[in-house]
Order: sequence, then structure tokens, then C-alpha cells
Amino acid sequence: MLPVTIETLVSAGIWVSAFVVALFVGAIVLPGFWRDGQPLRDGTRRRYKLSGLVLFAATHLVIAVGVTFGGWSLAPLVTHFWSLFVAANVWAFAISLYLLVSGRRNRESERSVLADAWLGAELNPTLLGVDLKMFMYHPSLIGLAVMNAAFAFVQVETYGALSPEMILYQAFTWAYLFTHYVKERFMLSTWDIIAERFGFMLVWGDLVYVPFLYSLVGWWVVDRGWVEDVHHPWPWWIYAGLIALHVGCHAIFRGSNWQKDRFKSHPEASIWGKKPEVLGGKLLVSGWWGIGRKINYTGEIGVYLSWALCAGFATPWPYLLPLSLFVLLAQRAWRDDRRCREKYGALWTDYCKRARFKMIPFLY
Ligand code: NDP
Repeated sequence: MLPVTIETLVSAGIWVSAFVVALFVGAIVLPGFWRDGQPLRDGTRRRYKLSGLVLFAATHLVIAVGVTFGGWSLAPLVTHFWSLFVAANVWAFAISLYLLVSGRRNRESERSVLADAWLGAELNPTLLGVDLKMFMYHPSLIGLAVMNAAFAFVQVETYGALSPEMILYQAFTWAYLFTHYVKERFMLSTWDIIAERFGFMLVWGDLVYVPFLYSLVGWWVVDRGWVEDVHHPWPWWIYAGLIALHVGCHAIFRGSNWQKDRFKSHPEASIWGKKPEVLGGKLLVSGWWGIGRKINYTGEIGVYLSWALCAGFATPWPYLLPLSLFVLLAQRAWRDDRRCREKYGALWTDYCKRARFKMIPFLY
């Protein structure tokens, strides 16, 4: 890793700016899927242009062309990590300041400046017709994709080949992002889009936390198993176990979220080939939602665990990722349980009797 100097900071600033601006222009000019959001407090619905899949594909195309014909390498993203990290933070502060000033000018908020700065002043800020809260997922997740790919470049440039664990790490992280974009409309019914205002907390999470910390595992996958330029693989069954863990948890994570999403929009749609079982016309008890009340969180934590395991056990650092997500989602599960108990009352108590476990069947 290179030290941070004025020169590295300037070039990192240019690269981060070019990346965010290119995605923003792409979100305006490239085609997308138009979808209605959830009803707002006044009963109207916002219309969203979902351009994530197109932007994700376009980024692949630009990088593939650059690597093939222009001799590009993504390895400098790793060597310039700290400068890019600083530049992304500057962007996060700048966007948050813009949101604070424009949000308070729009007079949507009556809270303190500090609360508005941290939590956001506006629910749905837009710029040139682009919904900023939905847009910011692109520098976040496509940034994570690019950052992850950079570790593969580093490994090839250092050792001359990709290790099986790096191939799995790349496949697992890519699949997670691909399945996100395939059903991008799912985001329109999430808590963050419906209820959270857009302030520093979400902006920093999008621009800094996700691309720079969710890629943490990559640092240790690069060197795992290499001794003096010779790679020492694990036995085949370890790779098979890793694939099984990832596929299983990914299926639970996306499958459960998509089942609930489909149920909310088409309550009669069959689940696992059968008519869905529903409590009080509101709470789904079929499919994954009959197995665990927060089984979607379990699946997601398992996905992050499968990434971390690609780095082996030489150091505990990669496991900070699944651990931090466990802490975040466990307290979110607790808060959501309280919210649902208030909202659904006796129906929620009945649901808890039907789906006895929260996150891990027979344990928790
Ligand atoms: P959930 O998908 O857990 O949704 C919770 C809400 O769904 C409840 O408040 C309730 O809302 C409704 N609900 C709960 N149980 C049922 C049921 N049985 N039948 C029908 N409706 C039900 O919420 P999140 O938005 O927190 O998470 C979405 C996904 O995003 C998760 O997979 C999570 O892992 C992921 N996530 C990831 C984060 C990350 O940083 N990686 C951060 C946060 C979330 P109501 O009925 O009022 O609609």
C-alpha cells in the first residue's frame, strides 16, 4: 500500500469523482426499468427509474474494454486504498452538506440541524430528476464490485495466477451483487427507502462503509495459501463445503426476501408450489417465513461468512465482516420485532407461535 501524499490524494479525488459522476450521468442517460414506489404519506407514489442492472453491466463493459485494449489494471485501487478512502469520505461529507442545505431550504424538516445532518432533512431528495437515495446504492455496490475485483488483479500481478479461493471469493461477491441488481425493485419496499431520511448516516454507509469495509476479506484472500510463489490449495471438499454454504445461505437470503416481496404485491401467488398460508390476511407463514421470523438476516450473515472463509484462519480480521453484520442485524431484528409487536398485536404473538425461531431453527 502506498502512503498518502498530496499527489495520491489528488489522483484518488479525480478517480472517485469521475466514478460517481459517470454513474450519475449513466443513471440519467442509460435506459432503466420504471417502477412505482410504495405509497407515500399523502397517498401518492413516486416513480423510480431503476438503472442498476444497466449500470452494473456498463461498468463491466468499460473495465473489460479497458483491460483488453488499454492495458488497464485495477490493482492501484488496492495500493491507493487510503487515498481513495479519504477521497470517498470527502465526497460523503460534501454530499451530506448539500443534502442538509437543500433539505432545510425545502422546509421539509423541523428538527435540529444536528439531527438533520446525521439522519437527513429530506425523505426523497432528487437531483436532475434522479432519486439520490436510490442512486447512491450504485457507487456503493458497484464500487464494492470494482474494489473486490481489484484484489484479483493484485493476486495475478503478485503471483501470476488466481487461487481457487480467490476465484470463489470473486464468484461469491459477484453473485451477491448480481442477485441484488436482478431484482433491484425489491429495494423500493425496504425500510431505508420508505422511511429513512437521507443524511450523513446513509450517505457515509453507501460511499465509505460498503465499498471499503465490505471488501475487507479480499486483503487476506490475496495471500492465502501462497508460499514463495507456489500455491498450496485446500483439499477439494473444503471448496465444495464453501460453495454449499454460500449457495445455501444465498438461496435463504434472497429467497426469503423475494417471497415476502411477492406476497406483499401478489398475496395469492404460490410459495414453494402451494397457496400461501397467511395469518389475519397480513403475515406470511409459508415458505422461509414459517421457518424463521428473521431467516433473511441469517441467510445474509451466512453469505458474509462464506466470503470470510475464503481467507482461511490465519488471522481473525476477515471475520470482522460477518461479526459486524451479525451485531447490526441482531439489533435490527430486535427493533423490528418490537415494531411488529406494536403494529400487529395479538397477530404477531400468534405468528411467533407458528414461526417459533427468530434466526436459527431449534437454537434461536
Ligand atoms: P425485513 O425484510 O426483515 O422486513 C421487516 C418487515 O417485514 C417487518 O417490519 C414487517 O413489516 C414485515 N414482515 C415481517 N415478517 C413478516 C411476515 N411473516 N409476513 C409479512 N410481512 C412480514 O427488513 P429489512 O428492511 O430490515 O431487511 C431487508 C433485507 O435487507 C434483509 O435481508 C436484510 O438482511 C438486508 N439488510 C442488509 C443490511 C446490510 O447492511 N447488509 C442492512 C439492513 C438490511 P410490514 O408488515 O409493516 O411491511
